[in-house]
Amino acid sequence: MKKSNPLKPGDNNLKGVGIWMTGLSGAGKTTISIFLEKRLIEMDYRVQRLDGDIVRQDLTADLGFSKEDRDRNIQRVSFVAHLLVNQGIVVPCAFISPYWEERQYARDKIGRFIEVFVECPLKVCEKRDVKGLYAKARAGEIKGFTGVDDPYEIPKNPEIVVHTDKMTLEDEVEIIIDYLKEHNYIV
Ligand code: ADP
Repeated sequence: MKKSNPLKPGDNNLKGVGIWMTGLSGAGKTTISIFLEKRLIEMDYRVQRLDGDIVRQDLTADLGFSKEDRDRNIQRVSFVAHLLVNQGIVVPCAFISPYWEERQYARDKIGRFIEVFVECPLKVCEKRDVKGLYAKARAGEIKGFTGVDDPYEIPKNPEIVVHTDKMTLEDEVEIIIDYLKEHNYIV
């Protein structure tokens, strides 16, 4: 028998959660959040994924990659995630979000929030170079690239750490799903 779902519209027990994925470019944030979205939809949850590459083409298209603009990007996205979470939606968020202070901002703003450190050594991310950006950053064609000539502040107390150079995508997503279940974010 199918379990009743607390996130279905009309249910009085609406509870969303922001699942904040942080890590270097190419670490696996987008890949994990897409797979997580698929799994949660199969479980009948309402899901809205927010992804840095997508919001930067629209909501925050006016922003660049200075510290100030990166902060503004996270602040706007956090506001959107906060609205969605309050509507009982599960919101996987994939953002490099290199600064500790802005991730704390996201945590405070979103409220129901878990931080997933998508950990992968720089040299592996660079080898993957999914978007060809590391090569451009090393060639000096892109300035202020996280991990190359811009900082990434390692999360201090993330709820979850996944090591994408050592684990499978399936296991990473399972760890997140298990955490959500154990902490009653989903059933
Ligand atoms: P990000 O969103 O962090 O910039 P992407 O998800 O776009 O990173 O890219 C990560 C790349 O690493 C993808 O090509 C993905 O297929 C690959 N990859 C290899 N192993 C894993 C893993 N275990 N978990 C997640 N991604 C992985």
